[in-house]
Amino acid sequence: MKKPRIILTNVLVFIITGTIALLGVPLWAMTIGFDTTEVIVAICLFYFTGMSITAGYHRLWSHKTYDANIVVRVILAIGGAMALQNSILHWSSDHRVHHRHVDNNERDPYSAKRGLWFAHIGWMLREYQSHRYDDYSNCRDLQKDAVVVWQHKYYLPIVLTANFGITGLLGWLNGDVLSMMLFAGVFRLFLVHHVTFFINSLAHYWGSQPYTDKNTARDNGILAFFTFGEGYHNYHHIFEYDYRNGIHWWQFDPTKWLIKGLSFVGLTSNLRQVPEERIEKARAAMQLQKTSAKLAAIPDADELLVKVQQEYDLLVQKMTAYYEAKKRLMAIRKRHLTRSVERLEIDFHYKELKHALALQKEKWLQLQSLAPQFA
Ligand SMILES: [Zn+2]
Ligand SMILES: [Zn+2]
Repeated sequence: MKKPRIILTNVLVFIITGTIALLGVPLWAMTIGFDTTEVIVAICLFYFTGMSITAGYHRLWSHKTYDANIVVRVILAIGGAMALQNSILHWSSDHRVHHRHVDNNERDPYSAKRGLWFAHIGWMLREYQSHRYDDYSNCRDLQKDAVVVWQHKYYLPIVLTANFGITGLLGWLNGDVLSMMLFAGVFRLFLVHHVTFFINSLAHYWGSQPYTDKNTARDNGILAFFTFGEGYHNYHHIFEYDYRNGIHWWQFDPTKWLIKGLSFVGLTSNLRQVPEERIEKARAAMQLQKTSAKLAAIPDADELLVKVQQEYDLLVQKMTAYYEAKKRLMAIRKRHLTRSVERLEIDFHYKELKHALALQKEKWLQLQSLAPQFA
């Protein structure tokens, strides 16, 4: 079968930036060297452009997980263009298709089932059928955002001005334009390219599946560290409308911290969050599935299988009761009924249910740790 036509511009961009980053920059470092300012600028621009993709292109525009003030949107649009990953409109359109048809080799533009190389970079090198051009019908909402329209229209001038202008100016101020452009320009661009591409490639291959196994997406703390928090990709694929990817406080998700931080000064708002109950239930369902599969593979485990199912049903029941009570408690707190009998009763009931759920969770965990011993 004849291979689709090569996209020369993309191929050249990756070859040129890759060669400079992997050969030119080390050579320059060994002979002339980079100074501290250049390293600091490169790190700052790495975070600025990388997080313009994750907080802007991804969580703001592709998934609408929060709203942002126009100043924030303009800054993210410039940073995103500086990361050289096509316009917001194009990127978001591809990404929405990726979520909708994940792992479908005909429709997902970067389907991980077509191999690690394809999902990482291969999909951008040829005119594959799964890749659509100028069809932005799944992004009509974004076409109403003046910043998105402006960035799409003037994409190339913005890319050139941001990449050459910002690094050039900073290099001039620091006394060496070429050196700054090499390190904070090309090397930084190369790094941002590949760490963000990891989200399409490695984050669909390497890691755990605590929430769903209906697609290849994985949760991986190590990847999250390099991808501005996007390594919690299993969670993201099941709950894509959540502004967080790492939902626990100890998970590394600087993109979430940035969005939340900006909300304190009123620059972002309407941060969308999936209710805890749905998250917990998704995780429990996955645990049931995994434990049952392990037990099903061994003989005479029927009794244990029934027990696992019973305890799971009880767990879900207790979760429902607990979250229901929590909702009622929140509602009554809003009404400021501090010392009423009704408040005391609801408080007591809530605490009881919370304790019952904690006990059931413990039991559930013990049961799961038992399963491998039988397997
Ligand atoms: Zn994905
Ligand atoms: Zn996404």
